Amino acid sequence: MSTTREYIHPEISPEARPFWDAANEGKLVIHTCRDCGRGHHYPRAMCPHCYSADLEWKETDGHGEIYSFSVVTAGKDLPRYVIAYVEIADRVKAMTNIVDCDPDSLRIGQRVKAVFRRSKTGQNILLFSPLESL
Ligand SMILES: [Zn+2]
Repeated sequence: MSTTREYIHPEISPEARPFWDAANEGKLVIHTCRDCGRGHHYPRAMCPHCYSADLEWKETDGHGEIYSFSVVTAGKDLPRYVIAYVEIADRVKAMTNIVDCDPDSLRIGQRVKAVFRRSKTGQNILLFSPLESL
């Protein structure tokens, strides 16, 4: 299955800049609250759970689990692709694409790992691929 796609340059807010810089180093980091201990994604200036501004970045091992997904068919001559919510840490989910896979083989709860692809402007984009095949 072809997964060749062009990825557009993301809109990068100042509070999300460290996330994107880490992605350029092939690392997945999660914005985590020092007050309540919960992480969140997409990065924000304040914790969405307790509104604290005392946040830190925690690097993950890049593993996650498919929480939900949908296979998208954009046209008969275009490759299908998979849009998904992946749980990247306890109760922290990222909207992403699953790549390097047979879309028909994916399942909820499947373990995936972070992979990065460059946008046209050189920014790494966070995607995931299955850890194991069925
Ligand atoms: Zn908090």
